[in-house]
Amino acid sequence: MRPATLNPLFAEVTGVVGVGPRLGRPLERLGLTRLRDLVYHLPERFVQRRAVRSLDEASVGEQIVVAMTPTEYRASAGRGPFRIIARDGDGDFVALTWFGRNAGWARKSLPLGERRWIAGRLDQFGQTLQMVHPEHIAEDSGALLGQLCEPVYALSEGLTLGRLQALVEQALAAAPDLPEWIEPGLLEKMGWPAWREALLLAHKGEHPAARDRLAYDELLASQLALMLVRRSNRSRSGIPLKADGSRRAKVSLPFGLTGAQKRAIGEIESDMAQSAPMLRLLQGDVGSGKTVVALEALLIAVEASAQGAMLAPTEILARQHFATLSRLAAGTGANIALLTGRDKGRARESILMGLLDGSIDICVGTHAIFQESVAYRNLAMVVIDEQHRFGVGQRLLLTQKGRRVPHCLAMTATPIPRTLTLAQYGEMDVSRLDEMPPGRQPIDTRVVAAERIGDVVAAVERHLAGGGQAYWVCPMVRENEGEDLAAAEARFAALKERLGDCVTLVHGQLRPEAKDAAMAEFAAGEKRLLVATTVIEVGVDVPNATLMVIEQAERFGLAQLHQLRGRVGRGEGHSVCLLLRGEALSETGRERLALMRETQDGFRLAEEDLRLRGGGELLGTRQSGDTPFRVADAEQIQRLLPLAHDDARLLIERDGGLDSPRGAAARVLLYLFERDYGVALLRGG
Ligand code: ADP
Ligand code: MG
Repeated sequence: MRPATLNPLFAEVTGVVGVGPRLGRPLERLGLTRLRDLVYHLPERFVQRRAVRSLDEASVGEQIVVAMTPTEYRASAGRGPFRIIARDGDGDFVALTWFGRNAGWARKSLPLGERRWIAGRLDQFGQTLQMVHPEHIAEDSGALLGQLCEPVYALSEGLTLGRLQALVEQALAAAPDLPEWIEPGLLEKMGWPAWREALLLAHKGEHPAARDRLAYDELLASQLALMLVRRSNRSRSGIPLKADGSRRAKVSLPFGLTGAQKRAIGEIESDMAQSAPMLRLLQGDVGSGKTVVALEALLIAVEASAQGAMLAPTEILARQHFATLSRLAAGTGANIALLTGRDKGRARESILMGLLDGSIDICVGTHAIFQESVAYRNLAMVVIDEQHRFGVGQRLLLTQKGRRVPHCLAMTATPIPRTLTLAQYGEMDVSRLDEMPPGRQPIDTRVVAAERIGDVVAAVERHLAGGGQAYWVCPMVRENEGEDLAAAEARFAALKERLGDCVTLVHGQLRPEAKDAAMAEFAAGEKRLLVATTVIEVGVDVPNATLMVIEQAERFGLAQLHQLRGRVGRGEGHSVCLLLRGEALSETGRERLALMRETQDGFRLAEEDLRLRGGGELLGTRQSGDTPFRVADAEQIQRLLPLAHDDARLLIERDGGLDSPRGAAARVLLYLFERDYGVALLRGG
């Protein structure tokens, strides 16, 4: 059971005053569903503002706080921006500017003739001073002058910075003091603050020691959990399987296996012949052919007169796997069954009987396949598909009920760099499918200067005229949401004017039904060009869409570009991805786009992304899936992981049951980072 001290942190964000479904969704997209997630949503950077008495004290490009009086509203026709002219004490003026549909709100917070304190970035537009989307407007100076250093957080569409800041504050106020789990000597040597103090500091300003401490906590939790899993796994014996290849010979594959697949299968077979239980991770990009490898592993068990099970994260995926495995294994004589939470009554009973008496050889399903009531005659092999969010350990536990531990193969499509693989999956051996099946059309990727957008539009027009479909992706990142949305809408309007009604727009501020409807029209081919912000929903699969344009590609992370690009190249046709780049491109930015052109290897992109980050350039929003950690960044992982590793090992050597006071604190840590499956193993003995 989770220590009661942590309960306030694990309260749902939706229980917080003012968080309804409208905010719930954008928060969820950022992975912020509980207060715990909010306190660990650390600032990406800080804005340092200067309070000035009048505009002439400030310079263009500077972040300022100044008192001004609105004197005039200037609405523009159509989709143009809304402006409010505001004057300082000297009579100098600035045009406060809003894109999108914020005019109502702007009028309300800036009544004519009433002085207000305004914070934002001073820019120049033609001859006039301008401030686009002022960040704060207040009646009195207190709040704005009291916080001249402001944290900036990663946002998602539908969530403003101010709103998120307030939520984080609320969450921080609910954070309790926790017992110290870091070794006192280390804590002192590094000059790290206590946990709660570190959190408060990390949100308030640039405090490297505080950030390091928080990162270290996460690394320590992961190392402790991995060691506990490994220790438990080693203490049990597995089932050595002698397979003769008889079933595998009868699999009907319409293709030959790739070298990488053969290698992985060989590694798996030799692991499974040992009495130590296999603990292996199969890493391979989407489409690299993991399913066939899983099937072979399952059939090895069947050849040895044992059973295999395959666990999928969702019911849909379970059904897909069941269909695929049944088709491929039709000639092998293996009896395959599907078991999900939906199966009830007779049908379920008969599957349970089959698993118990051994007449079912392979069971595919959701977590239902490991419920208490499900017993196997001789389960010797478990495949776990798509591991990331919870880590392997938690799922592994499910397989460790018996005295004899089945062999386990975990599969993931997230290509993460080798060093991070060690950190995340340190307890496992790794097989990589680093070779795509042949015949896959490479996606022709080109980097195009933004000035050539006319040519690009012409190319899209030709593509559509030839019966094809295409994606046009506009960036929607970070804090200038208003501008991004305005840009996406403007692009949509321009493309629609040129190409007609076959163009549709999807972005995160649409109601979900409207979004689904637009996606459905595109999938059905009724719309030919989908203009989208980054929220091209996962699972979109339109083989006829073979062209993708990505605007301002330099603003995306490599992992995200890789994912986006994966939406094309799904059919027979030759696919093209055009990366439009802005003019002010840094050296690193140039290198990153060149990499995208050069390779489609997700592993290589992940490695290079890490390397380029090492260069000290802040690449902006961290993409989920980049590293297995949320708090620790790549640099911290490299610097602090060895320390955490040694510290964890020492603690477990001295206090394997985590019974000492520090051990008890370490348990709290494991729960805090949801690595509590480690604690469960302690109880198991
Ligand atoms: P993953 O699960 O790794 O994303 P899948 O196992 O679903 O990938 O395989 C993707 C597609 O590639 C499937 O249609 C599969 O039949 C096909 N495939 C797998 N291995 C090969 C191969 N060696 N040669 C040709 N096609 C293959
Ligand atoms: Mg798959």
